[in-house]
Amino acid sequence: MADFLFEPHAPVSIPIARGGLFAVRRVYCVGRNYAEHIKEMGNDVKDPPFFFAKPADAVVVGGAGIDYPPQTSDFHHEVELVVAIGKDGADIAAEDALTHVYGYACGLDMTRRDLQAVAKKAGRPWEMAKGFDQSAPIGTIEPAEAIGHPTSGAITLSVNGEERQRGDLGDQIWSVPETIAYLSQFVTLRAGDLIMTGTPAGVGPVVRGDRIEGAIAGVGTVRTVIG
Ligand code: MN
Repeated sequence: MADFLFEPHAPVSIPIARGGLFAVRRVYCVGRNYAEHIKEMGNDVKDPPFFFAKPADAVVVGGAGIDYPPQTSDFHHEVELVVAIGKDGADIAAEDALTHVYGYACGLDMTRRDLQAVAKKAGRPWEMAKGFDQSAPIGTIEPAEAIGHPTSGAITLSVNGEERQRGDLGDQIWSVPETIAYLSQFVTLRAGDLIMTGTPAGVGPVVRGDRIEGAIAGVGTVRTVIG
C-alpha cells in the first residue's frame, strides 16, 4: 500500500446499460454546436468549436438529485449527447474517430449562466460557471455495439413535464468524428474520457424543486431534481 496521506478518492463511474461501470477520467465539453443555440446566445455560427472541461467528480449518476448551487441566481439546463471514449488516441483522423467511441449517453451541462456572462465579458475562464460540484448529471451509457453511432434523432429537455429544449442530432455543426478529431489535436484522449457535444436551443433557468428530464432518441434519458 502506497504511503498516501489519505485514501485516494474512488473514480466516478457511470452505469453501462448492459452491465458494468464506465470509470470517468476527464469530461470535455464543446462550447457551441447547434446553430439555433449559438444564435440565441448572440454568437457567430461560423466560429470554430472550442472546448472547456468539468472535473470528473462533477458527474452525477442514477437520477440522483442535485443541489441548487451557490453563487448564482440564474442556474441553467443544457441537454447534450455525451460521447464515451473507449480507446486511447491523439491526432485521431475523423475517419477513424468512431473506433475510439465506446458508447453514448444523455447528459446535462448545468451552467451558472450569470457567472458565465461575467466571465465572457471579462475574458476570464469558465470553470466557475461550468465546472462546479454536481454540474454534470449523466444517464446510463449505451454501448455503440448495441445502438450504433447516432447522427440524427430528437434531443429534448423538459422541466416539470413541460418541454423547454428541442433539437436534432443532425443539426450539430461539428459531427462526433469531427469533434474527436479536432479535440485530439490538443489533448490525448483516453478510455474513460467523456465529451459533451453541445446543446440545442431553449436553454433556461431552473429553481429548487424542478424536475429535469433530458432525452435523446435512440440513446436514452437523464433525470434529476433540483434540491
Ligand atoms: Mn453545453
